[in-house]
Amino acid sequence: MITAAEVKQVARSLGADVVGIASMDRWEGAPLQMDPRQIMPEAKSLIAMAFRVMRGSLRGIEEGTFFSNYAAMGYGGLTYLYIPLTVMNLSKYIEDRGYEAIPIGHQHEWRAVDGEGNLRGNVSRPVAPGRACPDVMTHLRIAAYLAGLGEIGYSKVLLTPQFGPRQRIGIVLTEAELEPDPIYEGPKLCNRCMACVKECPGKAISGEKTVKVTLAGHEVEWGELDCAACDIAFRGGQIAEGDDEAQYTEDMYGHRITRSPYTPFYRKPRNLYNTGQAVCGGRGCLRACMVSLENRDVLQNKFEKPFRRQKPWLVDWSDDAAEGFKEGKVKEAD
Ligand code: SF4
Ligand code: SF4
Repeated sequence: MITAAEVKQVARSLGADVVGIASMDRWEGAPLQMDPRQIMPEAKSLIAMAFRVMRGSLRGIEEGTFFSNYAAMGYGGLTYLYIPLTVMNLSKYIEDRGYEAIPIGHQHEWRAVDGEGNLRGNVSRPVAPGRACPDVMTHLRIAAYLAGLGEIGYSKVLLTPQFGPRQRIGIVLTEAELEPDPIYEGPKLCNRCMACVKECPGKAISGEKTVKVTLAGHEVEWGELDCAACDIAFRGGQIAEGDDEAQYTEDMYGHRITRSPYTPFYRKPRNLYNTGQAVCGGRGCLRACMVSLENRDVLQNKFEKPFRRQKPWLVDWSDDAAEGFKEGKVKEAD
């Protein structure tokens, strides 16, 4: 016998900041490729854990002086070190009590679907009729929502009452039957302020078009995302208008990519911890959202000083500013 309270206490002692539990019936109606019951048909519970992205890990990008810290400590280290260790150790604890448990983190490279849930061509085929194509991808934010950790914001980012948009998720699937938490119905976090839309450097979040889904009987809506636009912009790139514009990174989506005003780097820096390359530092969906939520005083993780202490910077990549680069010249955003 193992209880939800015991599992949550152990998860917290292992480093999770927030823990919630979902029963598997909450995935009724989920797309086959994203249904965790395809991974463990006998699963009874999904344990979702939120791991905070420290506000300090974003300070260097906010100041425009130290970008690698968010990629390394903000989410790369969480994704590839801290979360795997925690979900593995929690799984061991559960297996020591006689219930199979699967630790799952951000490990989607082998998935059969893209970020929007569409089958990618020529990846894999089902091992038997009726089963999903390997690899099934459990949508971690949706899992966290179904485990009661928070709400899905307009940006499609999970917002928790503790940290707003500032966390990453790890999960454990288990055959142990644990008392589920209710879906989050606490104070509304996203007030549709649209700061995420306005400040996203890639204009990747539509201000008009939305996506509506039903999750465990609850209507959820978010702004339509242009994943390609985010993919380019979050690295600090933008589509070049001509061949004379400096190449920032390899061609993407058939376009030459040049530097945007949201990167101070001549060339895109190499990835840290496999996928750490977020030069934009979540300018819209993370930092602007966090600033908005903190200004409204709706988050539990409070600070003595506001996060935003000066106007956001923009880099001037024009030839005229070339001399200024040497002095680290930046100009203020409008
Ligand atoms: S990560 Fe950056 S580019 Fe992508 S949606 Fe968020 S703010 Fe926009
Ligand atoms: S920035 Fe505003 S609209 Fe966007 S997710 Fe956050 S609270 Fe919602």
